[in-house]
Order: sequence, then C-alpha cells, then structure tokens
Amino acid sequence: MRDENCIFCKIVAGEIPSRTLFEDEDFKVMLDVGPAAKGHALIIPKAHYSDIYELPSELAGEALKLAKRMATHMTTVLNCDGFNILQNNGVAAGQTVFHYHMHLIPRYADGNEMILWEAKQFSAEEMDDLAEKLAVK
Ligand code: AMP
Ligand code: ZN
Repeated sequence: MRDENCIFCKIVAGEIPSRTLFEDEDFKVMLDVGPAAKGHALIIPKAHYSDIYELPSELAGEALKLAKRMATHMTTVLNCDGFNILQNNGVAAGQTVFHYHMHLIPRYADGNEMILWEAKQFSAEEMDDLAEKLAVK
C-alpha cells in the first residue's frame, strides 16, 4: 500500500535516501533529518497508513515492540540518560508527515529541549464527567 505523494513511501521505495538503522518486512527505522536531539530516529511501517486510526492493531503492537528494542539498543550505543517515544496524529497534534511514524528521541542530562506542557485545570465535575464519557464500556 503506497501513496504516490507521500515522502515516507518514497523513502521506503528507495526513491529518496535515508539513514537506515533497521529494516524488516514490515518496518523501517531511520534517522530523522530534523532531530530534536542526537540520535532522533523514526519508526515507519513500510505500508502507507496515515495515522494511528488507520494503522492496523497488529502493526501498532509490532511498532511498540520495535520501539522497545530500538530504545534499548540506542540507549546502550548513545549512552543517553533518558528516552522519549512519541507519535503525532493530525495537524492539531503537530503531525506534518501523514504516513504513520513513531519518534524515538534519546535525551541527555545536559540537553535543554524537553517535551513540556502547561498543566490545565478542570473542575472536579468536569473531570468526573470526562472519566464517565471516556470510560471504555
Ligand atoms: P511529525 O511532525 O510527527 O509528522 O514528524 C515528521 C518528522 O519527519 C519530522 O521530525 C521531520 O524532521 C521528519 N522528516 C521529514 N522528512 C524526512 C526525511 N526525508 N527523512 C527523515 N525524516 C524526515
Ligand atoms: Zn506513505
């Protein structure tokens, strides 16, 4: 499954170069060209799925297993002090390439770029309501 206009599909097809760290039948792991930190890499499925909603559950599970494997390996090699694994879905969430990918971001004790947010306040009622609405039944 390929999208002709997708840059990651072109990378998977070998039409655009990438620095590959791992490859198997279903996935490719490559260095991100705009790294948040030294060693920032991306896990991409070889087939085109635009986001988490399209990605089949089985591949989602395999992607997370691969993330664990890569994070363990990269931490050993880079001797980094921490590790972020994150994944954006939709423009509102900061997604810019619409081929599912998982960010693997090594973190260093002396690094200054953190993934931060300001904690918001919702009333106890709103929180109760949300918990009720979001509970999987
Ligand atoms: P996101 O904002 O979650 O969609 O992340 C897209 C990521 O893809 C960004 O971190 C980009 O730096 C990265 N990226 C874009 N083009 C390439 C490319 N040709 N090779 C490797 N990474 C890329
Ligand atoms: Zn694609």
